[in-house]
Amino acid sequence: MVYSALDNVKTGLLILDRDLRAVYSNPALHGLFRSWSPDQIRSQKPRYVELLLSANSAAAIDLEDYVARRLSWVKSGEQAPMDLRMADGSVQRCQLAVLPNGGRMLIYSDVTDIIRNAAELERLATTDGMTGLFNRRHFLALAECEWKRARRYDRSVSLAILDIDFFKAINDEFGHDVGDSVIVHLTDLVSRTKRDTDLLARIGGEEFALLLPETTLSAASTVAERIRHEVATRPFDKAPHSVAATVSIGVAASTDTMAGFTDLMKAADDALYDAKRSGRNRVALRPGL
Ligand code: GH3
Ligand code: MG
Ligand code: MG
Repeated sequence: MVYSALDNVKTGLLILDRDLRAVYSNPALHGLFRSWSPDQIRSQKPRYVELLLSANSAAAIDLEDYVARRLSWVKSGEQAPMDLRMADGSVQRCQLAVLPNGGRMLIYSDVTDIIRNAAELERLATTDGMTGLFNRRHFLALAECEWKRARRYDRSVSLAILDIDFFKAINDEFGHDVGDSVIVHLTDLVSRTKRDTDLLARIGGEEFALLLPETTLSAASTVAERIRHEVATRPFDKAPHSVAATVSIGVAASTDTMAGFTDLMKAADDALYDAKRSGRNRVALRPGL
């Protein structure tokens, strides 16, 4: 077969015969393999497994597993593409075609930019630009999953809702930009005070939600009290402004009578209302202890 027409194609191409020996590779593919030049491939017809062992891929860390998975994918003739993360950080999407003679054609294209853009779009869609926290929509989706998991395994889950006290007055006194900085400052404080397993989100302008998996009401109230204390004792301080802010926190835990996560949200919201009504800068619980 004359393959020279493929020499100038920008995508990497590798053709294997029915015994999975390489019979052709084009120059674009060459960068993916450290030790085989197109000429060597043409003259020596290495087995595909030998090429894999020399592949310049980051996945080669667990070489045995990597080679086994790649070989079985190629043998199966499965059409779904496979993405390979290369040692230089690029991502190659490998597509497989089964040839009429029983051989295989592997087509490699660089999808680094597509993957990076997709990751960036995902980040933009799920987080809040100002604080970097999860946004309300993504938080609700994650919380719904956690709620189902907790229900399935009969585990407790708690929710805290935080709202900055008298924030309108802070904006009025210092201006909206300083108000923004106070929100970011509180985000840092809460992020550092919460536990790694707790999920923090910005669900409103100056309102945050903290989901606490595997946590009873009394344990959640301890976390909330620590956060309240931390915020109250560490003002935002950046010359020329020093702004003391406090938060009110409503905490609720799942109960058997709740039909879904919305009920837990409602309970934590009601508790937040109690905290506001009883003076602010405090933690209130639903149901009360
Ligand atoms: P309360 O103690 O009852 O919570 O009093 P509050 O003044 O905080 O009242 P409320 O929660 O109703 O008002 C929140 C204010 O926060 C209204 C809005 O102007 C302001 N705000 C909302 N989002 C932002 C934001 O992103 N940046 C700034 N600077 N202000 C915001
Ligand atoms: Mg509010
Ligand atoms: Mg407020």
